[in-house]
Amino acid sequence: MDTKAFKRSLQQSDNYHRKGFGHEEAVAGQLKNEYQSSLIQQIRENNYTLSRGEVTIRLAEAFGFCWGVERAVAMAYETRQHFPTERIWITNEIIHNPGVNQRLKEMEVGFIEVKDGRKDFTIVETGDVVILPAFGASVQEMQLLNDRGCTIVDTTCPWVSKVWNTVEKHKKGSHTSIIHGKYNHEETVATSSFAGKYLVVLNLDEAAYVANYILNQGNRNEFMAKFSHACSQGFDPDKDLEKIGIANQTTMLKGETEKIGKLFERTMLKKYGPLTLNEHFLSFNTICDATQERQDAMFGLVDQKLDLMVVIGGYNSSNTTHLQEIAIERGIPSYHIDSAERIGPGNRIVHKPLHADLNLTEPWLPDGFITVGVTSGASTPDKAVEDAIERIFELKVAASVRG
Ligand code: SF4
Repeated sequence: MDTKAFKRSLQQSDNYHRKGFGHEEAVAGQLKNEYQSSLIQQIRENNYTLSRGEVTIRLAEAFGFCWGVERAVAMAYETRQHFPTERIWITNEIIHNPGVNQRLKEMEVGFIEVKDGRKDFTIVETGDVVILPAFGASVQEMQLLNDRGCTIVDTTCPWVSKVWNTVEKHKKGSHTSIIHGKYNHEETVATSSFAGKYLVVLNLDEAAYVANYILNQGNRNEFMAKFSHACSQGFDPDKDLEKIGIANQTTMLKGETEKIGKLFERTMLKKYGPLTLNEHFLSFNTICDATQERQDAMFGLVDQKLDLMVVIGGYNSSNTTHLQEIAIERGIPSYHIDSAERIGPGNRIVHKPLHADLNLTEPWLPDGFITVGVTSGASTPDKAVEDAIERIFELKVAASVRG
C-alpha cells in the first residue's frame, strides 16, 4: 500500500478529524474538575516539596500529563459532546491510565475488544465514530475504518506523527527503519505499519547484536529467531541492513535512543567509510520533549536523599516503566502503582516490580521521619498523584497513632 498517499487522501476526507470540534471551553472545566489537583499545584509552588507529620514528599519537577495526552483526552471529551447520539468507539486505550479509560467507558465510548490476540472490528458499523488514541493506530486499521464509512477522530500525538514521517523518508530512500521500541507496543505497531522494511530493537544490547551482524555477519538463523516478531515480512539480515535509518518509540529512554543512534552511525561509518555514510545511514531527532523532560526531572529527583520512590502510571505505560528503571538503577526502593487504591489498608502496598507480576509488600513505609520521592508517567492525571500522596500521609498518621 502507498501509505503516504493513503494518509493524504484520508486527511482530505470530510469524515476525518484531527483537530477539536470547537468545544474546548466546554470540556476544559470538566477536565479541570476530573483530573487537576489543587494540592499538586500547591506542592509545585512550594518548590516541589510538602511536609506533613513525619512525611516529606518530593515531587519530580516534570511529571504527569504531557500536552499530547492532554490534547488526546480533550479531543475524546469533545467528540462525545459533538456526537451526542452516535455510537463512539476507540481502537485502544486512549492513554495508558485506567481511571481515564474508565471515565470514557462511563461516557459510553466503547473499546474495541481483542479476541485471540486480534482486534475485533466486526462491531463497528458505517456511520459510527471511531477515535484513534494518542499513540496512533496502524495504517491498516485506518484503512479498514475508512472503507467501512466511519467518522475517524485522530488524536495521534504530533510527536508520534513525526516518527511516522521519518519512517516514510527511510522508505523513500530504500533504507530499513531500525526502530528503538517494544515490537508489540501499540505505538511501535503503528509506526512499523508505515515503514517499508523494519527491525525493532528493544535496547542497546539488541542494537549491539545487530551492529555486530552488520560488521561481521554471524548466524543468520539465530538472528531470525531472535527478531522473528520484530521485523518486517521477508526481512533478510544479509541484504536489508546495508542502508538503515533510525526511528524510535517516543517513550523509550532518551539516553538509550541516542546511544543506539550513535552506535549505528559508527557501525555504518566503519563499514562504508565517510564518503558514502549518508547513503547508508539516516537519523533525525524524534525524541519527544515531554519524555525527555520527565526523565531529566527523574534524574534530578533521585540525586536527592530519598527513602523510597512512588511511581504512578499505567502498568502498560512504557514511559512510566522507564521512570521506575531510573530509581532502581540508583538503588532506591521504588513502588510502581497504577492508582492510589493500591495503597493500604494498613501499611501495605500492591505494586508492580520491574518485569514481574503484582506484589504485595507489608510494611512498606519505614518508621519515623521519611522522605518519599513521587513522580508519574505522561498518562497520569495530577488527581491520581494527589490521591496517592494523601494516602501516604493518612497511613503514616495512622501508624504513629498505633505506635
Ligand atoms: S509522551 Fe510525547 S509523544 Fe507521547 S503523547 Fe506525550 S507528548 Fe506525545
